[in-house]
Amino acid sequence: MSDELIRETPPPYQAGALSNFRVGVLGWAVPGHLRDFPWRHTRDPYRLLLSELMLRRTQARQVAPTNQNFFQRWPDLESFLQADTEALGQVLLPLGLQWRIQNILELRQSLRNLGQIPRDYQGLLGLPGVGDYVASAVLCFSQQEARPLIDTNTVRLIGRYFGLQVHQGTRRLKSFRQLAASLVPQDTASASVYHYGLLDLAATICRPTRPDCSECPLSSECQTLKMEGPPSTSPERKT
Ligand code: SF4
Repeated sequence: MSDELIRETPPPYQAGALSNFRVGVLGWAVPGHLRDFPWRHTRDPYRLLLSELMLRRTQARQVAPTNQNFFQRWPDLESFLQADTEALGQVLLPLGLQWRIQNILELRQSLRNLGQIPRDYQGLLGLPGVGDYVASAVLCFSQQEARPLIDTNTVRLIGRYFGLQVHQGTRRLKSFRQLAASLVPQDTASASVYHYGLLDLAATICRPTRPDCSECPLSSECQTLKMEGPPSTSPERKT
């Protein structure tokens, strides 16, 4: 379906709709709701970068034990740069995906050349295997930069709330990216809490199939729930 046929972004949103979403996510993002993972206890860009690469196409619960093993053996950038290649591959093996191991080895070579983790978006994007989501996540969780984290899950949740029909290309649309960015709290202290809340709401409540709308803190203003009732499938699968 062409982009023109898809209701990507309705007319400009009222500030209240943006604020209701933000406040709803932040209010829900408390310890009893948020999931606890090792990478949520650090602001070290090295650990955050490697953790994000481990999380690509892999369930967070599956990543956690490997993540802990990895950082027990190579707790900082210096030890990672000197790590034995075969040992790296063995520790990462439980995660599967040979291309990921290769990617991490290529990343190590780039970091050897640079001598440090870049601290800005363009610098991070220049690293092998690092795209918009990973670069934004590293900056958000290490430096509290107020950047949107846009992946399949956050596109689904935002799309449902605002009544958008989303598709695989939605995350690259300028209009959607502007909407996602306008939802991020601008006080930097709240940016990472907001994103933990958004990621966990999408994973545990606004699931791809059978979302638990009765438990959702956003239900009173959710356009999809209002117009169509609880969704039965991921919006990306409707088209
Ligand atoms: S009310 Fe339901 S569809 Fe809407 S955001 Fe919440 S869980 Fe998702």
